[in-house]
Amino acid sequence: MSKLVDRLAEAKEHMRWELRRLEERMAELGDKRVGLEAYIAHLEKLLDKAKQASSNAVLEEVIKLGELKVQTKPTLFKMSKYLVEKEVEQKLEKARGELMEILQEIKATKQRKKDANRCPNCHGQGQLREVNYVREDGVVRPMLRITRCPVCEGGGKIDY
Ligand SMILES: [Zn+2]
Repeated sequence: MSKLVDRLAEAKEHMRWELRRLEERMAELGDKRVGLEAYIAHLEKLLDKAKQASSNAVLEEVIKLGELKVQTKPTLFKMSKYLVEKEVEQKLEKARGELMEILQEIKATKQRKKDANRCPNCHGQGQLREVNYVREDGVVRPMLRITRCPVCEGGGKIDY
């Protein structure tokens, strides 16, 4: 019985540790997500501004606000405009890709949080399956024995 109590205590401790770790990661991911969404909104506005630009001054402003590397050539406005738009679009694509990754990790972390209190003894099944071999009339036959998991008492989950 004391062995069972130890296992339960150990499982609970591990679970609390795991949940704390997952919650910290969720907080980090949440911050990153907010930052990226704001950055994407900023870039989308800059892209609109670049597309509507009709002077070099506006392009220069977009370059400054977007921290772009491209340099305008006053005599080649159309070319400059194209290059500015292209760089903003590339930045947008990269930021959207990063956001997608963050969202996927948030989803996976949520699922892991849900699974964190799964009983480690029965892997959430609530029961233990054991095959015993019995000899009957000279023939050995397997017999499945199903017992309720003593750690989670059949619930498959551990309350912490
Ligand atoms: Zn169990």
